[in-house]
Amino acid sequence: MAFKADKIWMDGTLVDWDKASTHVLSHVVHYGTSAFEGVRCYKTQNGSAVMRLHDHIKRLFDSCKIYRMPVPYTIEQVESAVLETLRANKLEQAYIRPFIFRGFGELGVNPSKCPVHVAVAAWDWGKYLGPEALEKGVSVCVSSWRRAAPDTFPTMAKVGANYMNSQLIKLEALENGYAEGIALDINGYVSEGSGENIFVVIGGKLYTPPSSSALLPGITRHSVFQVARSLGIEVEQHQLQREALYTADEIFMTGTAAEITPVTMVDKITIGTGVRGPITKRLQEKFFGITEGKLPDEFGWLTVL
Ligand code: PMP
Repeated sequence: MAFKADKIWMDGTLVDWDKASTHVLSHVVHYGTSAFEGVRCYKTQNGSAVMRLHDHIKRLFDSCKIYRMPVPYTIEQVESAVLETLRANKLEQAYIRPFIFRGFGELGVNPSKCPVHVAVAAWDWGKYLGPEALEKGVSVCVSSWRRAAPDTFPTMAKVGANYMNSQLIKLEALENGYAEGIALDINGYVSEGSGENIFVVIGGKLYTPPSSSALLPGITRHSVFQVARSLGIEVEQHQLQREALYTADEIFMTGTAAEITPVTMVDKITIGTGVRGPITKRLQEKFFGITEGKLPDEFGWLTVL
């Protein structure tokens, strides 16, 4: 596993990893003018396969639309660029980072004179919250930082600048010895982690905050909806009070990087029995069964390389 590969796709061509650079006066460097995705490529029994490629690239284009960033490629071209990058780097499994940013033009706040660049990088990356987290679970805290109010930064856009908020949440959590921080929204309801959505299990049913609770509607969150329903587990999007975390039977977080990670403690309060819960385990088994190619791809998630 290494945070490096040979080539990065940049504006239509594959360039050497070390040469994929941009000017220090690029708009993105000063104002965070970028949209990006995190996508996983899994090594399945039937070859390498990209997880929900179209949904990720569609969300990337939607993020650009919200910020009036015209993309000089089509969705299909960026999807092909992802596959080309994986093949060029001979990666069997990878974390893929397609991103679109404003380069060097003018340095005023108005971005419209700055060119829009598109790039795709991919590298081998392991388990985001540590190799044991998927089974043992993690201990998290509620952050003192809130997610943005709806009329400030649009949280449905996955854009670079939003991650300054995520960094505050993550750094505070790590500083205090937690694996992750969960932020509340402007009204004090549970929103999400710095890079994950959150679910609670109460009485056999799944609850997760609605997208109006200042969160990024995750693609893994949606995959969990599909898996849960296929297993006969009900899912409801519902505003959640902080104390609903403390009293839940089970909690887990979802994300492309975090996949489905159990949470066993919140603010040092033990959740349920303090170990990964049975519903979390069932959801993981089906999710990983599909991504490892051991179960049929019944939701059409995978694009085989
Ligand atoms: N929320 C935030 C803030 C994130 O960064 C992510 C990771 N992209 C998620 C939720 C989960 O989204 P997804 O399942 O699409 O990776």
